[in-house]
Amino acid sequence: MKDIRVRFAPSPTGPLHIGGARSALFNFLLARKYGGSVILRIEDTDLERSSRESEKDIMDSLRWLGLSWDEGPDIGGPYGPYRQMERLDIYKKYVEKLFEKGYAYHCYCTEEELEQQRQELLAKGEMPRYTGVCYGLSEEERRKREEEGRKPVVRFRVPQDRIIEINDLVRGKVSFESSGIGDFIIVKSDGVPTYNFAVVVDDHEMGITHVIRAEEHLSNTPRQVLLYEALGLTPPEFAHISLILGKDRSKMSKRHGATSINQYRREGYLPEAMVNFLALLGWSPEGEEEVFSVDQLIERFSMDRVAKSPAVFDLEKLRWLNGVYIRNSDLERIAGLALPYLQEAGYASENPGPEEWERIKNVVEAVREYLGALSEITEHVRIFFETQFDFEDEKAAAVLREEQVPAVMEALKSKLAGVDSLDKEGAKKLLKEVSKEVKLKGRKVFMPIRVALTGMTHGPELHDIIPLLGAEEVIRRVEASMAKVRE
Ligand code: GLU
Repeated sequence: MKDIRVRFAPSPTGPLHIGGARSALFNFLLARKYGGSVILRIEDTDLERSSRESEKDIMDSLRWLGLSWDEGPDIGGPYGPYRQMERLDIYKKYVEKLFEKGYAYHCYCTEEELEQQRQELLAKGEMPRYTGVCYGLSEEERRKREEEGRKPVVRFRVPQDRIIEINDLVRGKVSFESSGIGDFIIVKSDGVPTYNFAVVVDDHEMGITHVIRAEEHLSNTPRQVLLYEALGLTPPEFAHISLILGKDRSKMSKRHGATSINQYRREGYLPEAMVNFLALLGWSPEGEEEVFSVDQLIERFSMDRVAKSPAVFDLEKLRWLNGVYIRNSDLERIAGLALPYLQEAGYASENPGPEEWERIKNVVEAVREYLGALSEITEHVRIFFETQFDFEDEKAAAVLREEQVPAVMEALKSKLAGVDSLDKEGAKKLLKEVSKEVKLKGRKVFMPIRVALTGMTHGPELHDIIPLLGAEEVIRRVEASMAKVRE
């Protein structure tokens, strides 16, 4: 088999989105599985909407996800340049070939003329398309138009009455009738090629073997296949992966959650969770397992398990997966990633020293199991940093008015007196002793202590909270909370 060469071909007209990242991932997985190459090509021919800033965002997001490439505008490679606007000379040669073979012609129609042609076709009940008004213009007719100051575009002459069949790796056989396709523009009047043309030239020139892209490009594929044919070239394999829908089954948009990768990054999603989640948007593994490292994905990925039906974007599932990675990753790393959120909330200093860092790690450890995204950490750790708090509601305050509470608090304070350092095990032991002393168990003992220390009836484990607050602060909070309910 020929070595696999795939490409990510983003248009730098905005940040990298979920859909683009998923296409990039599937290309990456296929290439890495078979030892092929990944090419990053920037499709910047939309001059108005393209920017270097978007290009940078896309590359940063791909790097963050760990989706590496082997050739690209930043690292070069044997088939460069890798930005389309730097390849204009290459396209010119192909346009010439098409002219020579009679497949290309200049078109001078103005917007108004095109609109009029459209209306005429519609009136006849025909599909609006360019039917070739300027095809076969004589030299003289062309000169006349040029003298009028008209700037031509180049159109591709679409052969009529052809059935174009595509053997899509995801969708199977798909056929199109060429008669529905008008003669389309391949070079705009400013000399810049259009997407359908540039993509064919580049995929051929760069030796691309597999084109894996979003379903919305399926309708472009017959145009591209006709161009390959006209140029006497063999098209690559195509795989069109299905749309991504929101949970309400409408096309994924901002309403369903953030759409750009950098937004997820900012909210504290881990790249490996993102990759895992993106892989499941359209690909399904054998078996029930859903948590996969990128290496496992590379091992298991195959195009024949990529679904034809739309993928549904489920933010809750992403939060769940992210939570799995937050819980299972190295604490030092998770604390490091959580630090900016703590700093922003004023809970951590700019450069924590060793002692503060230890405490931060313990705080993160105590709450990480509750997090879907790291940015949520600030709500969960408030209890460790804010010494003044109110009871969350009347129900919480009522807990402290139960009759056993004074005895529980006395026992707790007396056990804590004189203790200067406590760890998790020490705290567990201490809580048991309190229980024993008041001859009560479970909720009756632990709930009042929880409310006295945090103002809430839920939250991290008491044996995590107590060491983090320290004996002195625990006693202070107990006294303050009890005073409040006595008021
Ligand atoms: N530049 C196109 C896009 O961003 C790429 C389409 C393709 O993969 O052929 O949608």
